[in-house]
Amino acid sequence: MKIICIGRNYREHARELGNPVPEDPIFFLKPDTAILRRNRPFLYPDFSSDIHYETEIVIKISKNGKHIEPAHAHTYYDEIGIGIDFTARDLQQKAREKGLPWALAKGFDHAAPISSFKAKTNLPDLERLHFHLDLNGKTVQHGFTGDMIFPVDTLISYLSRFITLRKGDLVFTGTPSGVGPVSKGDMLEAFIEDNKMLKCEVK
Ligand code: MG
Repeated sequence: MKIICIGRNYREHARELGNPVPEDPIFFLKPDTAILRRNRPFLYPDFSSDIHYETEIVIKISKNGKHIEPAHAHTYYDEIGIGIDFTARDLQQKAREKGLPWALAKGFDHAAPISSFKAKTNLPDLERLHFHLDLNGKTVQHGFTGDMIFPVDTLISYLSRFITLRKGDLVFTGTPSGVGPVSKGDMLEAFIEDNKMLKCEVK
């Protein structure tokens, strides 16, 4: 399986990092070794001193597809979760300055903690979902999927023109504003609506 992540899908987040609002979706990949499951702790890596959290709604692809029409995209996922797109902001900044890929800044081991998944039928409409992240008990990010620049079905349709989607693939749908650094000892807790879905201690 693969992990496809969307960059700059919320205007306020694009602004906070000084990026223009994109005309087409921006995406990048993380390897499957980035996944961190079952609320396991995240070990702060020695190659960065500026790891940031980015909280994102995650879609699990339920069947293989290519050239998916936007109107059919919703039939390609049944389950929704939440994840953290951990980013080594210092490595990313260096890569950006040189016009180099973000692979190391985004794809390192355990850079993708994910929750368990819920059937979409048990959640409010995907285009009207609220989610948030608490850092040490204080809410630091709040997202509303209705604010996405490119809604999920548009993303799936666009992506599938280039990359075949397979059952089990994960799509991180972009982070709202409020990203920031983590330190050893921090506790991150991610919620969809009022359901605590994911807990991740930084060690
Ligand atoms: Mg992200």
